[in-house]
Amino acid sequence: MMLEKREGGCHCGRVRFRAQVDLELLSQCNCSICAKKGILHLPIAPEDFELLRGKNALTVYTFGTGVAQHTFCSHCGMHAFYVPRSQPDRMTVNARCLDGVDGPSLKPTRFFDGRHWEEAQRLRIAEGSHIAAAGLSGAVTLENILDRAPE
Ligand SMILES: [Zn+2]
Repeated sequence: MMLEKREGGCHCGRVRFRAQVDLELLSQCNCSICAKKGILHLPIAPEDFELLRGKNALTVYTFGTGVAQHTFCSHCGMHAFYVPRSQPDRMTVNARCLDGVDGPSLKPTRFFDGRHWEEAQRLRIAEGSHIAAAGLSGAVTLENILDRAPE
């Protein structure tokens, strides 16, 4: 574990956050949305995340089960962070949106086979990864994050 406090945000600057991240936990997913976003995931606890500004600039996109909360900046379209379906009581920062990070040099060490989600989730849990309470929607987690954020 190499926890560091980093800041980041969307492209236009309306959305800014500060988070405690571990760049060694960088992971990639091949599900229908992650593949298109090109997101590099850094899973973190909501307590280690602070939305500094941009609450009103965020739009939330949901699909399928509706558990994951895919937030993006309504102005520039960047997905700087979101609440994942696999761990809806936690969240994910997009490593590509951290300040001073050189995207192409990032090397994900973990892979989630989101294209086969049910099986990937079973494997993840079998490996001892974190499990959220059954039936929890990411909307609850997102609401808590937004509640503590300034206007
Ligand atoms: Zn923006």
